[in-house]
Order: sequence, then structure tokens, then C-alpha cells
Amino acid sequence: MKDYKGKTYSDGDKEWTNFAELCKGCGLCIEKCPQKCLAFDKERNNHYGTFTVKCDISKCIACGICEIHCPDQAIRVDKG
Ligand code: SF4
Ligand code: SF4
Repeated sequence: MKDYKGKTYSDGDKEWTNFAELCKGCGLCIEKCPQKCLAFDKERNNHYGTFTVKCDISKCIACGICEIHCPDQAIRVDKG
């Protein structure tokens, strides 16, 4: 599998990564996050010209729901 470069948010205990090369900016992860810690990243476009997604890692509980629902495998959640 290709080694995609992601943008990672980390607080030392957990990591949340979005891969701009895979993310199409559909917003499904934002909708599904129970902690409301995801939002469109207006400073970072993906290949489709739409926005990628950023994470407020301080609110994230690393439940993995966003990762499961992303149709494009554009999110990785790592627990420490
Ligand atoms: S669900 Fe996946 S493809 Fe859709 S915005 Fe979120 S990270 Fe991007
Ligand atoms: S792992 Fe859970 S809490 Fe963290 S961003 Fe994804 S859905 Fe939200």
C-alpha cells in the first residue's frame, strides 16, 4: 500500500491523523463524531479542491467512530 503522508494531531496519549490525498471532504466524520471535535480545515485543501478535516485533540476520546465511517480510509486514530 502507498505510504500516504497525513496531518497528525497529538496530545501525547492519542493521535488523530487525516490523509489529504484520500480525504474528499464529504464531512461524514464531522457529522458522526460524538465529541464534536472535528471540523473542516479551511487552510488545507485535498486533491478535490475541497477542505480536509482537522481535529481538536483535547476533546477526542479516540473512540474510532470517525475512522470506521470514513468511506475513503482517510483517518487514522491511534491510542497511546
Ligand atoms: S469522512 Fe473521510 S473523506 Fe469524508 S471528510 Fe471525513 S476524512 Fe474526509
Ligand atoms: S476518534 Fe471519536 S472522538 Fe475522536 S475524532 Fe474520531 S469520532 Fe471524534
